[in-house]
Amino acid sequence: MRIETLAVASSGGPDETSLAIAPPITLSTTFERAADGSYPGGFDYSRSGNPNRNALETALARLEAGAVAAAFPSGMAATFAVVFSLEPGDHVVSADDAYYGTTVLLNRLFEQRGVEVTFVDMADLDAVAAAVRPQTALLWGETPSNPMIRITDIEALSDIAHGVDAIAAFDNTWATPLLQRPLELGADLVMHSTTKYLGGHSDVMGGAVVSKGDDARFERIREVQVEGGSIPAPFDAWLVRRGLESLAARMTMHCANAGALARFLDGHRAVTKVHYPGLPDDPGHELAGRQMSDYGGMLSFHIDGGRDEALAVTAGVRLIAQATSLGGTHSLIEHRASAEGPTTRAPESLIRLSVGLEHPDDLIEDLERGLAALT
Ligand SMILES: *Cc1c(COP(=O)(O)O)cnc(C)c1O
Repeated sequence: MRIETLAVASSGGPDETSLAIAPPITLSTTFERAADGSYPGGFDYSRSGNPNRNALETALARLEAGAVAAAFPSGMAATFAVVFSLEPGDHVVSADDAYYGTTVLLNRLFEQRGVEVTFVDMADLDAVAAAVRPQTALLWGETPSNPMIRITDIEALSDIAHGVDAIAAFDNTWATPLLQRPLELGADLVMHSTTKYLGGHSDVMGGAVVSKGDDARFERIREVQVEGGSIPAPFDAWLVRRGLESLAARMTMHCANAGALARFLDGHRAVTKVHYPGLPDDPGHELAGRQMSDYGGMLSFHIDGGRDEALAVTAGVRLIAQATSLGGTHSLIEHRASAEGPTTRAPESLIRLSVGLEHPDDLIEDLERGLAALT
């Protein structure tokens, strides 16, 4: 089956007892045992397994071409589980432009607990090769990156990690398995914030780790999930799984709209630079063409000015909401530097856009209105 069909078929229906096409939500925390003490339904207690969570995990493993997956209550809980599976003394090489929360997690929660982290520009393969060492247990990549929308080479980075027997993990939140499948390019683990495109409607938080192998590494991550109690509620798992059914349709439109907006912004006199791999002169264009099937729904751009001018633009739009996060139906605009605070690496002139499913002409008119503040 093709990925679009797999995504729809992940509903698993019709339900065995009611023949409902959409799956029921199983809220029960506990499940009946047989006379011999076994669990004929396959479930015992909802922390260790629940039909809605299991359906989501099976679906995510299939979409990412992995063997197994574990679902978490947020993307950060998923990342936490991966890093927690390391041992004190282990070394991590992370992308220097990874999701801001990932950097905070590595710096503030793990460095004090004996996991050493080196941040490196993952577009520079020589720098990555120089950063790995025998103690390196994990390479953490993210492509496209946030907020500079840079593309890094999953295959080459995985090779560097494997050269020192480290595992290669990629945050695939922005691309989704519809556009990019890191496990097929050599990675060992894929992480998702399902809060974004997979849920797709800005109404549920979740995370996931998908593993290429059903191995000891994954067992440890599963242990952090179940024994650590890091589980999504059945309704949340149900919502994210439902989101998968329309993922292909939504991603097609997110990409088309983002392309239209990138071209508009590229030609605007108050915009000095647009970061979008779909633009032919973008540094990530060629690589994205090889490892992605389309260029995604996220872009960022620099305006002619600094913080005040950027905030004037984000305050000047009406249709596009000024809010953090991404991947939902509504377009969102954000000045990342002020969202991240004093330790940000985001330039003051930079504005990030999560391009939604509105008509692109309405979005262009709205951006024209916002940018009018500068002209
Ligand atoms: C949002 C996001 C996360 C964190 O996920 P939460 O669901 O907010 O915990 C991690 N990585 C990327 C790329 C994200 O966009």
